[in-house]
Amino acid sequence: MNDDSAFARHTRPELARLLRAMHLDVTYRAGRGDHLTRERPDGDEGSGAGEHILDLVGGAGSSLFGHNHPALVEVARRCLDEEIPFNAQGSIRPGAAELARRLSETVGATTGASYVVTLGSTGADAVEAAVKHATVEHRRRLGALQEECERLLRRVRRDATGDVACASGPAVGRPCAEVLAEALDLIDGLRRTDPVFVSLRDAFHGKTTAAGTLTHGGNVPEDLHVPGPRHRRLHDWTPDAVVTALDAERIPVPSVTLDAAGVPHSAVLHLSPVAACFAEPVQGESGVHEVPAETLAALRELADRHAAALVFDEIQCGMGRTGTFLASEPSGVVADYYLFSKSLGGGLAKVSALLVAEDRYVPEFGRHHTSTFADDDFSSRIATAALDLALAHRDRITEVGALLRDRLVEVARRWPRAVVEVRGRGLLLGVEFRLPRPASGLLREVLDSESLGYLIAGRILHTHRIRVIPTLSAPATVRVQPSALLEPADVDRVAAAFDEVAGLLSRGDYATLMEHLAMPARGGWQPRRHVPAPRRDRPVRPAADRPDDVPRVAFLANLDVPSTLRSMAPELTGWTDEQCTAALDRMQGELDPFEVVRHRITSEAGAAVEVVMVAVPFTAAQADAALRAGQGAWLRRSVLDGVELAVSLGAGVVGLGGHTSIVTNAARDVVEDGVRVTSGNSLTAACAYDLLRLKLAESGADERRVGLVGAIGNIGAVMAELVAPHCESMVLVGRPGSARRLATVADRIGGVSEVSVADDLEALRDRPIVVTATNSSDPVILPHHLDGDGKVLVCDLAVPGDVHPAVAGLSHVTLVSGGRIQLPGVQTPRFPGITLPPGILYSCLAETILLGFEPTTPSPSYGGLTSAGVLAARDLAVRHGFHPARIVSDDVSVRPWVVDQLSTVLEENIG
Ligand code: PMP
Repeated sequence: MNDDSAFARHTRPELARLLRAMHLDVTYRAGRGDHLTRERPDGDEGSGAGEHILDLVGGAGSSLFGHNHPALVEVARRCLDEEIPFNAQGSIRPGAAELARRLSETVGATTGASYVVTLGSTGADAVEAAVKHATVEHRRRLGALQEECERLLRRVRRDATGDVACASGPAVGRPCAEVLAEALDLIDGLRRTDPVFVSLRDAFHGKTTAAGTLTHGGNVPEDLHVPGPRHRRLHDWTPDAVVTALDAERIPVPSVTLDAAGVPHSAVLHLSPVAACFAEPVQGESGVHEVPAETLAALRELADRHAAALVFDEIQCGMGRTGTFLASEPSGVVADYYLFSKSLGGGLAKVSALLVAEDRYVPEFGRHHTSTFADDDFSSRIATAALDLALAHRDRITEVGALLRDRLVEVARRWPRAVVEVRGRGLLLGVEFRLPRPASGLLREVLDSESLGYLIAGRILHTHRIRVIPTLSAPATVRVQPSALLEPADVDRVAAAFDEVAGLLSRGDYATLMEHLAMPARGGWQPRRHVPAPRRDRPVRPAADRPDDVPRVAFLANLDVPSTLRSMAPELTGWTDEQCTAALDRMQGELDPFEVVRHRITSEAGAAVEVVMVAVPFTAAQADAALRAGQGAWLRRSVLDGVELAVSLGAGVVGLGGHTSIVTNAARDVVEDGVRVTSGNSLTAACAYDLLRLKLAESGADERRVGLVGAIGNIGAVMAELVAPHCESMVLVGRPGSARRLATVADRIGGVSEVSVADDLEALRDRPIVVTATNSSDPVILPHHLDGDGKVLVCDLAVPGDVHPAVAGLSHVTLVSGGRIQLPGVQTPRFPGITLPPGILYSCLAETILLGFEPTTPSPSYGGLTSAGVLAARDLAVRHGFHPARIVSDDVSVRPWVVDQLSTVLEENIG
């Protein structure tokens, strides 16, 4: 097992698939300064010749001093040389002590305060510590208040003055013991309720349980979010709104004081369950948004109003990344707690810190909040050295950051259709791209708000050798977070790369923008092991969306061959077949179904429907391979997603074309109560039967020998049942090993005529009539299978066809593509990917449309086909003037149904 497949199988399966789909599945073997060395795409490590990639991701903001900064590596090396103990818990740890002192002094230089520092390993670790500390602080404050009240109550009881009325204040005239008892009740109630934490709209504070609750969205599906502490989000950042946002939480509590003469007076306190307000002074993961100074000041006021702690999460924006040590520094607002991580470890160590202003620190907190890897000297010594670098690089960061920002702003001005804006400060920048609206549904699906940034990242990586990725919860914003070592020449390269991508987007040159997706993937693809149940809401689009309130039906179809991609996305016309194949291979299982086209179709009887074609993005070959490998679950999931889309579009009928019915067990896996579901296969069988009935009726006894391929399948089985009574003999032919299952079909229809089975296609030789309806994505019938003496009629019902193209050239063979229907009148809708002559549709699509004409007719093709269903489908077509089309090579002939004969025969069979 190589690294790729081990990663996909054992580490991060979902991420591996996404990286593969977006061609970001690259491996970096070394990093120095602003550059990473990428393993060559062919995996050739031996030559030592890697590609140098300029890294603007910088460990999601951790590598402010580049990769493996020599000064930091030197500290790490010294730690190892000196064999300093890594695990010396429960002892004095000089490295941790020094780091804490330096952090307190550095922050204190701006705020004037002194801090107690709690070290941890990750950003979320520091956030959790802050949540815990604020909870304890809040509880202790209420506890102190409660104690004070109790003491006073004991005193007035001792002095027998509890009945003395308050001389002033809101409780004037009420006995002071009664007022104190009420206050105690209220305080006790508040102590028993869980504290509330506040964070801003679009905040990102990490993904552990409490931190995840403070984080807004964070691209976490609802069912993966585990609720943490009670929480309020501030959506409105205007200062007045912030200050008063939580006024409803404030509880008025009476208080009593005794004056020098022992006379009670009352007042009112406002207590609140709010324990802490969190903010990132510059939000990183939400797409880089600076929180205005006025909002930060309002947050300070809000926290004070609730006696809560104000927490500045400087995990990403602090440590000098924005040009000042604290990103909050220019605002002049001072918080109670500060959080650091990321750059604190200098890109080498995993370390984080919670700073709590000394006067708020809860004394026992540190005894009870422990973590095995916190306070280690190795990380602490590296972090202390990183702190020196941070202080030394502030001016450089300001200068190079301003240069970079200016250049990116120029790009945004040049391409306003592609770039929304450039945001941020210092070396924490974000470029927000505008979501394009390509013409085709396929590209709208590929270039959605979730994937746009990753697609841009791929283009920039493969074309410009620059590494970027989107911010976590705003994936249309590309983060630009280089190190402080960035050179002006690199700034030019970065600007040129963004300029190229923005130009491609503006011009709508998607074929070039997505070129890297059409490069062959290395390593195999791993399917999802657990396929989640559908979880989308089903907002049915309003009827106004439908022209003339015509009923809507949806037809789902997979891609029969990779080149169908081009017809579904004309933007990719220039792509070769190989590129289409590579792109579909990369994106296997990652694309959602999408709408391709809509058409209005009318019936001869005056009915009308609107048919929406929905593509289910797998190819016939991918479906075949997945089914053979026992990986059908993702195919089924894809189809069910397509059904969800159809239902949300308001379709009353859902037709399952091509492999979409095969992978859903002849549509049985699609369980719907509000829509009719059809595989459309009854009409396919009816068309073929119509043709064969005529042919068999005209033929002599010796000619009525039929070979039927694919009798285990849904269409094949019903064809065998229908055709058997009209022939002298029939052989059911399948793959090697299929004889037993074929025999079951033969037993069912036996007795009508001679029926035999064979698991070798050689059995077709000398059969004047051959019918084939397999699910194979490759041709199964080759010229040599038909090289008997006489003439042969081959009726191929499969899509893609079962018969090798060379067979069409054989003079003794008439090849009829069955299952085609001519629309009534002059209607020639175009369905991308369906290459039939104008006005001709596949029967499965036609059956879907026909059901739309008749809202109460049940689906004839749900689950196993029956002769009765075939008859019903035929009748439907007759009623609406849809006729079978006989296509021999490119020659199309249309004729009415063989109504009388067919009805009689079918009725005889059913009866
Ligand atoms: N806070 C902020 C502002 C962050 O940007 C991040 C990480 N992106 C975190 C907290 C969480 O840090 P970690 O991923 O190390 O838990």
